[in-house]
Amino acid sequence: MPELKDLSVVVPLYNEEESLPELINWISRVMQKHGFTYEIILVDDGSTDRSWEVVKALGNENGAVKGVKFNRNYGKSAALDTGFKLAQAEVVITMDADLQDSPDEIPELYRMIKEEKYDLVSGWKQKRYDPLSKTIPSKFFNYVNSKISGIKLHDFNCGLKAYRYEVVKNISIYGEMHRYIPVIAKWNGFKKIGEKVVEHRARKYGVTKFGLERFIFGFLDLLSVTFVSRFKKSPMHFFGTLGTLSFLLGSIITVVIIANKLIKIYRGELARSVTEQPLFFLALVAIIIGTQLFLVGFLAELMIMVTGRRKGEYLITEKVGVVD
Ligand code: UDP
Ligand code: MG
Repeated sequence: MPELKDLSVVVPLYNEEESLPELINWISRVMQKHGFTYEIILVDDGSTDRSWEVVKALGNENGAVKGVKFNRNYGKSAALDTGFKLAQAEVVITMDADLQDSPDEIPELYRMIKEEKYDLVSGWKQKRYDPLSKTIPSKFFNYVNSKISGIKLHDFNCGLKAYRYEVVKNISIYGEMHRYIPVIAKWNGFKKIGEKVVEHRARKYGVTKFGLERFIFGFLDLLSVTFVSRFKKSPMHFFGTLGTLSFLLGSIITVVIIANKLIKIYRGELARSVTEQPLFFLALVAIIIGTQLFLVGFLAELMIMVTGRRKGEYLITEKVGVVD
């Protein structure tokens, strides 16, 4: 294993050509001032502007800069996941490329991980420089996330976060899950999660890459994360329980209906035909749903057995300074 540096800064970027030189400059200044050994991993998420040319130029100028380029836009989660796989440092920082996060926060984040022994420290943009259409829904979502996940954070989606090496090597993020990294970390056993108020700045160049759909998708993702994390080891526990309950309920009702009929026939009373009773059909539906749920549980178990952990596989077309 190559020796670990003090810090690795992972930056996902999508069409951020103007911001990059300033960002790299600033990060390097902070690192040198504090005497950290470091690397900066720029993950170009399929930019269509000149970002990759800028990354290559920066890589030639500065030995600490590494870069990989995706063949297309896979999303911020894919970019972070790839950065995490490459990072070789005791503390890994993620930050956005758009200069909204300040590199001056890095030394304190590093100290919290190293000295206060946090697994993960998330930034909190207490004072935000974003439009109200973003900040108000975001308050609501952070509240819901915090309640559902049981993690006391004010700002789950903050791009500026710090992680212990073991954490980034043991979690995978895919889809749009970058908003829930603290939740994923917690479910993987990294429970010491902290928060630091960080300085937030207005976007200087370029435009935001996420619209309002982030809130709908975000909520669906929260459900998936919570569900998958809770039942990923044994989906059968979830589907099997529901399936058994539904099956049992249906069977009991059917038995009662048939028993009723038999008793009436035995007593010579007038018995209503079983198929004329709505309850009988409801019971059938319950039995069928129960069987289906069982089967879904088995299929989910099979998938887990066959695929094991879900891996992010993204096609990287070019690299600078990254050795395989
Ligand atoms: N980003 C990315 N891939 C995408 C969208 C965004 O790598 O598909 C990067 C983007 O370049 C930036 C960071 O993710 O570095 C955060 O994006 P943005 O600033 O647009 O989000 P906001 O600050 O509006 O939440
Ligand atoms: Mg931004």
